[in-house]
Amino acid sequence: MVQRTAEILASQNQLKSTLDAIRDPIFELGLDGRYYQCSANVDDLLFQPGGALIGKTVPEVLPEAAAQVVMDALRTANLEGHSQGREYALELARGVRWFELSVARKAVDGGCEPRFVAMSRDITERKTAEQEIRRLAFYDPLTELPNRRLLQDRLEHALTATARSHHQGALLLIDLDNFKALNDTVGHDKGDILLQQVARRLLSCVRECDTVARLGGDEFVVMIDDVGSTPADAIGHAQTVAEKIVTLLGQPYDIAGHEHRSSSSVGVALFGVDTGGTVEETFKRSDVAMYQAKAAGRNTLRFFDPAMQAAVEARAALEVDVRQGMANNEFQLHYQPQVGPGNRVIGAEALLRWTHPRHGAVPPGEFIPVAEQSGPILQLGQWVLETAFAQLAVWAADPSAAALTVAVNVSVHQFRQPDFVDQVLSALRGSGADAHRLKLELTESMFAFDLEDIIIKMAALKAQGVGFSLDDFGTGYSSLSYLKRLPLDQLKIDQSFVHDVLTDANDASIVRIIITLGHSLGLDVIAEGVETIGQRQFLSTHGCELCQGYLISRPLPIAAFNAFLQAHTAGQAPG
Ligand code: C2E
Ligand code: CA
Ligand code: CA
Repeated sequence: MVQRTAEILASQNQLKSTLDAIRDPIFELGLDGRYYQCSANVDDLLFQPGGALIGKTVPEVLPEAAAQVVMDALRTANLEGHSQGREYALELARGVRWFELSVARKAVDGGCEPRFVAMSRDITERKTAEQEIRRLAFYDPLTELPNRRLLQDRLEHALTATARSHHQGALLLIDLDNFKALNDTVGHDKGDILLQQVARRLLSCVRECDTVARLGGDEFVVMIDDVGSTPADAIGHAQTVAEKIVTLLGQPYDIAGHEHRSSSSVGVALFGVDTGGTVEETFKRSDVAMYQAKAAGRNTLRFFDPAMQAAVEARAALEVDVRQGMANNEFQLHYQPQVGPGNRVIGAEALLRWTHPRHGAVPPGEFIPVAEQSGPILQLGQWVLETAFAQLAVWAADPSAAALTVAVNVSVHQFRQPDFVDQVLSALRGSGADAHRLKLELTESMFAFDLEDIIIKMAALKAQGVGFSLDDFGTGYSSLSYLKRLPLDQLKIDQSFVHDVLTDANDASIVRIIITLGHSLGLDVIAEGVETIGQRQFLSTHGCELCQGYLISRPLPIAAFNAFLQAHTAGQAPG
């Protein structure tokens, strides 16, 4: 018996020393990741002496990412007998090391918990070599930017992604103007310095998820995966980036102590659902556009699609006009009365009006969507808020108008500004107007993105007394789940339903449902676009007493609105 035990011990020691002689650390693990045994050479690998591991589990010992790989390998090995080829990295005292893991299920007596043998092999050298090969194959050595091959690969992925989603991407081909002249006159090494500086400037123009690549020579590409889902958004975003690039690359360079001036020509091709395209086609389009930019005199950008280019130019012209219009006081607010039971005026919606020096009255439906795509809407929106607040403050001093509220339309872009809440609150404070008299009109399209952010902003404004109305209700993404979560005060039935409420049974049902829905959520309901007594009666029969429309009054300049108010109040029965 003693003899037998000694033999077993000897053979166990033999086995142990065999295992210890293997350079790769070996562990025995349970399915729950518990360590039962380990070979001698694991010490620095697991941040603690091997002996201290026994009884602990993998998730207790390894960082989360590595632990997940091991646990996943254990589960696979349990199902399939073995698993191998899993890789994980560990940050050890001697630097980041890569390991390849193979796990095999041990034969155990029936009924016993399964046990696993895991072996970790240090593959850091191989990994480094792979990375080096990848760097050489896919990156440009001069600028360290992705090269043409990697760009093609990424574009391929982006094309697949845009085909699936509904957004569009943009490929911007950038060619330096007169680069060859610099190279020929001052030498290639100076040319190289310029290319490196260009690379750095391009990187500063884009987000981390976008790709900046060098195709070779003085040709660069910027690829933006997502420039927006509507054509107007996509053009606007791509144009903004392209303009930034032309401006930034046109700034002077310091090349070995000498100032150098350069410029660039940028060709823009959009890709996505409607813009179609393979990798080759997309490249070709950006190339065509880039040559158009060159032909247009360089130091500029061109879109591939002539219609897009026209849209870009019209937008640019309008942008200039809007800015000028603001400087020349061409904008005005008109006020459309909102009435309650007994036609008592409870407030007004502020509506923007523009009298263009050449085109005359431009309807907001024409310039707001364009202004929305770019900077001016922000300034214009701010102007609207300030003007409306100033009006509120004036009314506050007049007993017959002090109770009026003003409803102000807010665009998505305005609302998305990170400091929107501060802008509104500081404008309110500056004007002396009472936040409780202000109602902001939002549209449902706003809630398609970043609902959480919107709710936070609404709550912050609401806490100061600002009210919210949901404009054009019924035409958008109406969903009960978000309606309940938004801190709204009012639903505004879209005028298209009101228009046909007496003639279209469908619209009549929609209107009735909206009224019931609003009231069940504890919200006021107002109808807009009310033009006839019949429509008004239908609405009030079904419980909607608040209304706005030509039946009461068109939107009026402020003097006319005040006169309307006086006449209306005078004609009103007391009580
Ligand atoms: P909205 O917010 O739905 O404004 C209501 C529109 O219906 C206004 O057109 C108004 O004049 C018109 N309207 C009012 N009553 C009646 C009626 O009885 N019948 C008919 N057929 N129409 C009526 P408007 O002033 O042309 O404004 C068009 C849109 O432009 C507005 O639609 C709003 O989306 C936008 N807008 C106007 N002012 C501003 C502003 O200051 N900021 C922003 N972001 N958008 C604005
Ligand atoms: Ca409105
Ligand atoms: Ca509306």
